[in-house]
Amino acid sequence: MQSNKSITYWLILISTSLLLVFSGVLYLQFHHSRLLSGTVQYNESNVSWNIFQLQSEALRFNNALYTAVLDPSSIDMNKLRLRHDIFYSRVDTVTFNPASEQLLNGTAYLTIIKSTYDFLESIDPYFGESYRKPLDREAMLAILQQLVPLQEKLNDLSLASVHQSGLHAENRAAEVQRQIAISTRLILFQLVLTLLFFYIVVRQIKQLQASREDLSKVANYDPLTSLPNRRLFLDRLEQELKKVHRTKDHLALLFLDLDNFKDINDTLGHEVGDLLLQEAARRLRKCVRESDTVSRLGGDEFTIILSDMASTENVAGISEAILKTLSDPFELDGREGFVSASIGITFYPDDADDVNSLLKNADQAMYVAKERGRNRFHYFTASMQEAAQTKMHLVNDLRSALAKKEFQLHYQPIVELTTGIVHKAEVLLRWKHPLRGIISPLEFIPAAEETGLIIDIGNWVFHEAACQAQRWRQQYQSSFQLSVNTSPLQLRADTNSFESWRSSLKSLELPGNAIAIEITESLLMDASFAKRLVAIHAMGVEVSLDDFGTGYSSMSYLKKFDIDYLKIDKSFVANLQQGSSDLAICEAVIVMAHKLGIMVIAEGIETLEQRNLLNAMGCDFGQGYLFSYPVPATAFEKLFESRPKPLTVTDQK
Ligand code: C2E
Ligand code: CA
Ligand code: CA
Repeated sequence: MQSNKSITYWLILISTSLLLVFSGVLYLQFHHSRLLSGTVQYNESNVSWNIFQLQSEALRFNNALYTAVLDPSSIDMNKLRLRHDIFYSRVDTVTFNPASEQLLNGTAYLTIIKSTYDFLESIDPYFGESYRKPLDREAMLAILQQLVPLQEKLNDLSLASVHQSGLHAENRAAEVQRQIAISTRLILFQLVLTLLFFYIVVRQIKQLQASREDLSKVANYDPLTSLPNRRLFLDRLEQELKKVHRTKDHLALLFLDLDNFKDINDTLGHEVGDLLLQEAARRLRKCVRESDTVSRLGGDEFTIILSDMASTENVAGISEAILKTLSDPFELDGREGFVSASIGITFYPDDADDVNSLLKNADQAMYVAKERGRNRFHYFTASMQEAAQTKMHLVNDLRSALAKKEFQLHYQPIVELTTGIVHKAEVLLRWKHPLRGIISPLEFIPAAEETGLIIDIGNWVFHEAACQAQRWRQQYQSSFQLSVNTSPLQLRADTNSFESWRSSLKSLELPGNAIAIEITESLLMDASFAKRLVAIHAMGVEVSLDDFGTGYSSMSYLKKFDIDYLKIDKSFVANLQQGSSDLAICEAVIVMAHKLGIMVIAEGIETLEQRNLLNAMGCDFGQGYLFSYPVPATAFEKLFESRPKPLTVTDQK
């Protein structure tokens, strides 16, 4: 803005100076033309004057001669010679003035001057320097006779010169006026051009500055919410840290992530999701002071810099206010939406003193807030750092776990509830860490998903499961099926999972229905999944919907997709009692699934009561510690061997 002002200022200054210079030039030109015209006029009148003098000298010479003729005794040769000489010099004066010829061009000027010289030459014997004849009356009369007509001619010349010089002066004056008018117009034109040029330059500069501002906006602000983006946020945080360092104050950094925002996006569409983000941004801004920075890092992640914190205690109040304002319903294009947020809080200089560490701390604290149930804030603590360290090591080790053959598969039977016969088993992955021992998939699967390692691991699980299914089908039970867990990432179009599965089945000559894959509800909300489901069925592989009831999907999704099994999540089974609401839910799910031709598997059956209740409701299969823990293949084989086929499990664990 400042430079904008000064450039305009300088341009105006330059244009004004140029205007002044032009006016000066105009004035000088005007003045000069007048001087020039004056000089020309002066020179022309000088010619007229000299010719007039020439004429009067001719007359004086004539008079002197005439007087001498009338009274020869009074001849004063000296006086006569003086008159002659003056006459002579006058002729020279006129002849050598270059303006004479120009001014009198077209008249008989040259002939007259020539005859004047001829005359003077003819009388040279009497008046010349070198040789002087005595001048008698006869000679004087002769001279007079020649002089009289010459005098008349000189008279004519004098009149002509006056006339010509008058005419010329008038023309000159008109010409000068015209020249001045032309120059004035030229200068005015030049002036207009200059002003136009400056107008264009000023406009260009303004446009350039505007586009530069636009560019900086694009580079520094989030186009959706108009909040500072990651880049500007990092810059501001850096500046604030320097400031707070000087003032010895505190600074709080809040990392905020909306809970379940993905569900809003998936169910109501991205446009509605965008509206929610815009409104959330507005609400966040209202919770903080003008001097605090609220930024959007991307997606549903926001950061808030609270600087000049006299006391770190105020942060709790602000965080509460944020959680409260975000929990109010969102009016989204005629519909109502609800979100909550998880906030991580860290302090400068208490927790860390550089941008990266602070950001990492706040992020870790936010994750803890999420883990503890969302819709809450959590302060950063040193133990989080340790947890983060542990995770980093875990990820590192995970990269080589497959190559080092550290993974194992455990199998948990899936029991037909009416008969107790085991037709299926769920394949559960275990990681035997060289130092930490068995690590639960709940711990390492998220890390494998974050790093993308899940694709290779998942393909390995599928292949191992297929090999195992083939062995057990050949040895024990020809229709035996293994149920393999999958991550949504494996089912994305851009992975090679399908090819890998297909080639596993093909190389083993195994029919697809030896395997069922377990998918999660969130996949059903992805419109493009229907196509991939067709591809899965084309392989003959069956599909089981895992953890049913925990996600965001509604029952209406079920009828859109061709699902073979539905697994009621163990959280519903855990509280199954006569008259409980979970019982009603389970019953509704079973009835609905059956109506849609889907078989139901209940997970997490730990007690006989649960098993009996589910059986009474018509649930097809059950799985849980009541029947067996997940066990290695050899232990599972014992189940086959100890019982006549088909494999049955008694009521005891
Ligand atoms: P899930 O698919 O829900 O698997 C069932 C989990 O419930 C297993 O935990 C199992 O040990 C546990 N469980 C079985 N019966 C009972 C019971 O009666 N009571 C209780 N409380 N729990 C029971 P696990 O083996 O720790 O696996 C945890 C999760 O890890 C699985 O949940 C699944 O989502 C994931 N997972 C396991 N293996 C794989 C895999 O190969 N690939 C992928 N993507 N995920 C896997
Ligand atoms: Ca499962
Ligand atoms: Ca499950």
